[in-house]
Amino acid sequence: GREESRLDARTTASKAMYEQAHHHLSGGVASSYQLRDPWPIYLEGGSGSRVWDVDGTEYYDFHNGFGSMVQGHAHPLIGKAIAERFPKGTHFAAPTEDAIVVGDELARRWGLPKWRYTNSGSEATMDAIRIARAYTGRDTVMKIFGSYHGHHDTVMVSIGFQDYDDIGPADNLTSIPYGAGVPQATVDMTVAVPFNDAAAMERRIQRLQTENRLPACVIMEAAMMNLGVVLPEPGYLEAVREITARYGIVLIFDEVKTGLTIAAGGARERFDVLPDMVTMSKALGAGLPMGAIGGTEEVMSVVEDHSVYQVGTYNGNPLCVAAARANLLDVLTPDAYAHLDHLNARIIEGCDDVIRRYNLPGYTVGIGSKGCVTFSEYKVVDYLTYRQNQREDLADLAWLFNMNRGVYMTPGREEEWTLSIIHDDAAIDAYVECFDEMAHELTK
Ligand code: PLP
Repeated sequence: GREESRLDARTTASKAMYEQAHHHLSGGVASSYQLRDPWPIYLEGGSGSRVWDVDGTEYYDFHNGFGSMVQGHAHPLIGKAIAERFPKGTHFAAPTEDAIVVGDELARRWGLPKWRYTNSGSEATMDAIRIARAYTGRDTVMKIFGSYHGHHDTVMVSIGFQDYDDIGPADNLTSIPYGAGVPQATVDMTVAVPFNDAAAMERRIQRLQTENRLPACVIMEAAMMNLGVVLPEPGYLEAVREITARYGIVLIFDEVKTGLTIAAGGARERFDVLPDMVTMSKALGAGLPMGAIGGTEEVMSVVEDHSVYQVGTYNGNPLCVAAARANLLDVLTPDAYAHLDHLNARIIEGCDDVIRRYNLPGYTVGIGSKGCVTFSEYKVVDYLTYRQNQREDLADLAWLFNMNRGVYMTPGREEEWTLSIIHDDAAIDAYVECFDEMAHELTK
């Protein structure tokens, strides 16, 4: 209560802006993920590791645009690339050289030879699924229960942002639409299986095979990034790779969040498992809207032979690919990833130390530039273990403590922190000190 009133009192300019905004913006925001009760906090700007709101409060940014801004805000090299491109024109819907350079670099980092671009993560997963369906001639899509892959109908199913009373047995989980407006026929075509359970995945695939509806693809995050962070258990990804190959199912790693934030070559590099396709967005465009799909020669042949139309007016937009080129070649260097690893080790160690000293229920989990404190006495391995054990009261309180002490977080408690390459030890210490203060208040 006290932390809530403190935040309300500190964000009166946001409140005024909200009153103005909600006349013509539904909920006062541009995307439902920006909603917040009693009002959203409106930002004015950002630079490096910092953002500031319309009340003039400055924060260390651990939200980083849901992990898009791993290069930090207003990075001079990204600014230079955009400034040099602008006077030469920003949009033709014709190919430009930067698109080639970006494709070469993505192919090098991921070990997948063929690439296409989109404008968002949702478009990347939508097109990747269509390509997999065309390549296999199958309709069913398999995903992980609880995972988010964007807002098109096929993947707005069985997502972990809400509590479900009963999701059925592990071998036969129910497909549940996320929000209204998703046709039941589409929901029925998407089948979810639990994370970290390759045996359950295989049993579900076998059942689908007897029903004559083998999946076209398994789309998954190699490490789940929307229940905090849930890492794959040893051997799990290798087993998924083996099973999908055996049934001729296209394995898609959705690297919209993990690509460029957990290693130079994303989850594919970190876990050393090669999928048939990857989808990317977020950090790729360095703050400009851009996504990408990568795939093997075989799978992507359905694009090359024109049987699938992978299209978009703004695909490969010159401004976006200029930013992505500078991002990949000049900003997200090997040193940058070493720095992120250093910072993440420091924040993980700091949070673990607080948990130990105050005997809090929970543990810290992280990888690359991402991590979180999972407030659970038991290890979370999938959606069910997350929902059953998560101390949501503590997660909510941690959010308020951070926001009131200059540490800016994503609005949802299911999100993780994302660090940028501009963050330094002082930013990390600010986060850990907030957590320490909360633990002290709770246990005194
Ligand atoms: N895939 C994953 C793993 C995501 O986290 C997201 C967005 O949060 C998406 C896809 C969708 O990306 P976008 O919001 O750019 O459409």
